[in-house]
Amino acid sequence: MTEPVLQVKNLKVYYYVEAGAVKAVDDVSFDLDFGVKMGLVGESGSGKSTMALALMRMIRPPGKIESGQMILDGMDLVKLSEEKMRQIRLRKLAMIPQGAMNALNPVMRIDRQLVDGMLDHGVVMSKEEREARVGQLLEMVDLAPKVAKMYPHELSGGMQQRVTVAQSISMEPDVIIADEPTSALDVVIQRQVMDTINRLQQRLGLSIILIGHDMGLMAQSVDRLAVMYAGKMMEIGETRAMFRSPLHPYTRLLIESLPVLENKGVFSGIPGITPSLLNPPEGCVFHTRCPKAWDLCREKIPEFAEVQPGRWVACHLHTA
Ligand code: ATP
Ligand code: SF4
Repeated sequence: MTEPVLQVKNLKVYYYVEAGAVKAVDDVSFDLDFGVKMGLVGESGSGKSTMALALMRMIRPPGKIESGQMILDGMDLVKLSEEKMRQIRLRKLAMIPQGAMNALNPVMRIDRQLVDGMLDHGVVMSKEEREARVGQLLEMVDLAPKVAKMYPHELSGGMQQRVTVAQSISMEPDVIIADEPTSALDVVIQRQVMDTINRLQQRLGLSIILIGHDMGLMAQSVDRLAVMYAGKMMEIGETRAMFRSPLHPYTRLLIESLPVLENKGVFSGIPGITPSLLNPPEGCVFHTRCPKAWDLCREKIPEFAEVQPGRWVACHLHTA
């Protein structure tokens, strides 16, 4: 077996607010294998964006990576200096941001924005090489060559998002983190941008972490699914197996709450509210909403364990 491209081990990321520590990512562990696309899903506030920012080492005060490891290519990202981390972003690990419009510079032509990251990393290119690289990147994200000379406001939302995708692959990183890359776009355009990302994944052998709310959309495009709840990882497994037989009660409820037709749509209708991450419930964080909870669940934190090959779950029903 090959080593995973990325290993996250017992990661904790807290935000220190006046009332105490918000445990946004609390003891999360997972592996990402080479060439695999993993979807990270969970209700709002479950810690998905914090996880993404932590991987990029972009957590800012009052947030802090408390402890744990994030091992990429043999290096623990948690321990790297700011300078070393700057060199690694884009080269080894890149992020496709949520809102393309905010991510692009409004007064800079697209060609310049596409090569800026490379120049920042000290890549030396002649004018011809730069133009060729811009043309290649635009072609890879299905944009016409003329886009090179345009400004962001001349592009549609979908085209802008394609530009951010092109930026993210400009240094051919191993891992791409995409935080709801298509959530601001309409459904048809979302599909098209996702198709482009999928094709790039094949072409470049990328490993991808795709963050999203839409479990239906996820199910159609990711190999593996990781489910977070209240800062903790609940279940990870192969997508089809998770849909066929969810092991964690929360995963089951998420799947059952999708509209039946095509299992497509956003989460709705899980009874109860998500707990405060300042004072999460004792024992299993899901016990306040879990239809299967019993005494043990209120007392003991379930271990996140591999219960079948490649299938991980944190629930006493499967690990007690
Ligand atoms: P969404 O889907 O709404 O983006 P999410 O799953 O990505 O949610 P996060 O944004 O990571 O969740 O938030 C996790 C928790 O951390 C939430 O309780 C949130 O209120 C808290 N949080 C996030 N950023 C900060 C911050 N800068 N300061 C304090 N608390 C924060
Ligand atoms: Fe439900 Fe208990 Fe499993 Fe938590 S550990 S998900 S409360 S059955």
